[in-house]
Amino acid sequence: MIREADVVVIGSGGLGAATAYYLAKRGGLSVALLDKHDIGSQTSPRAAGMVSCMRKGELMIELIKDACRKIETFTVETGQPLDWVHSGSLKIARRPQDADVIAADLDRGRRMGLDVEQVSPEEAHRLNPFLKPSGVVAALRIGDDRYFDPTQVAIGFARAAAAKGATLSPRTDVIEVCIEGGKVTGVQTSSGPIQTAVVVDAAGAWTRQVAEASGIRVPLVPTRQQLIVTDPLDGVRADLPMLRIMDAAVYARPCQGGFLWGVYEEDPRFFDMQSLGPSFDIKDMPLDIEVLRSAADDVKAQIPILQTAKVREFRGGIPTMTADGQHILGPAPAVDGFFFASGCNVAGLSISPAVGEALAAWIVDGKPPVDLSPMSPTRFNDQAWSEEQLRRESAWQYRHFYGAA
Ligand SMILES: Cc1cc2nc3c(=O)[nH]c(=O)nc-3n(C[C@H](O)[C@H](O)[C@H](O)COP(=O)(O)OP(=O)(O)OC[C@H]3O[C@@H](n4cnc5c(N)ncnc54)[C@H](O)[C@@H]3O)c2cc1C
Repeated sequence: MIREADVVVIGSGGLGAATAYYLAKRGGLSVALLDKHDIGSQTSPRAAGMVSCMRKGELMIELIKDACRKIETFTVETGQPLDWVHSGSLKIARRPQDADVIAADLDRGRRMGLDVEQVSPEEAHRLNPFLKPSGVVAALRIGDDRYFDPTQVAIGFARAAAAKGATLSPRTDVIEVCIEGGKVTGVQTSSGPIQTAVVVDAAGAWTRQVAEASGIRVPLVPTRQQLIVTDPLDGVRADLPMLRIMDAAVYARPCQGGFLWGVYEEDPRFFDMQSLGPSFDIKDMPLDIEVLRSAADDVKAQIPILQTAKVREFRGGIPTMTADGQHILGPAPAVDGFFFASGCNVAGLSISPAVGEALAAWIVDGKPPVDLSPMSPTRFNDQAWSEEQLRRESAWQYRHFYGAA
């Protein structure tokens, strides 16, 4: 076990591992990547692996475009495998008010240089025959979208960080970040202390616990997200465009000859990680398949196959939601050396290559490479929020991830 490091990254999911990789790549820094479980073993490998380029804001579109470039060059860059498919996607409105959102998406997408076009319901059906035109009011084709194997990203970045000299410490629980005189001085772990002036809290569902152990409050809520992978189905090709039904908040993409699909339900299940005990593992999270059955019923006119396809795998994880739908990235106010890489809003794996590099630059250069203030933890500075308000607003962000009106 090392006893000192220039930077300690707490958590080896997509966000922590990418940050550790880009820090190590900078050279000249000793970087330690710690995880209380196995490396890259918690929420990240359970994701859908979908990359959605049509975001609500321009900053997120710029970051996701950068992430797309990094996904394409991942293996050349890191020496690690990453299977990805450039499938494009179809965003579907079933209500007139959501068709207006699609029109605004089209404008923004074109302005931002995305490959977007509005297509008729019949053309959408031709592009992906599993989408039926019934009840479709408007459809947006997003050519830039893609998907990848979610099990390869965090572990790939972590291994690549190690190849560049970072120390990986699995099964090492950070119990407390030590702070003296407003500055980080080290971390206390289950394997002893490590001296450091910089920590990155990338502890995923446990981000709050890590911060709160040092008296730092951070407004994010661990939130369940579940998905189903079906058995192989006749006619499913890997390059069929992914589907997103806006108001139902249902998504589906090809996966090993079948579909992988899930939903952002109306009434999400939130967790207080403290109450789950210190050894809780995401694989033990309680699942509820009724949520998906009800979602399949909701979209039965558009994607009827979801009702009948046999379930091969049912899994879930605990990403983190924020009240404004933005990540929490950057230095904590009032504590020198304490950085966050969290608040992923169920989209942190796909963007992790871009935000990992940006955060590494922020730490080393003292400023972010682009204006990341919409994601900065300082945006909460003057606001007192109640848990009830945080959950209510986070639930709204969750259900409206696709921008439904
Ligand atoms: C079903 C589902 C579908 C999803 N679909 C997508 C998608 O299509 N596209 C997308 O981009 N995202 C998607 N996501 C979201 C994505 O999974 C997350 O945004 C991303 O994985 C978050 O990564 P993370 O690094 O924050 O968390 P994690 O991967 O959970 O990593 C956090 C790590 O911190 C460690 N840790 C916690 N506490 C401590 C401690 N005290 N000491 C040491 N280590 C600690 C944990 O053990 C864990 O390994 C999906 C998620 C789910 C569950």
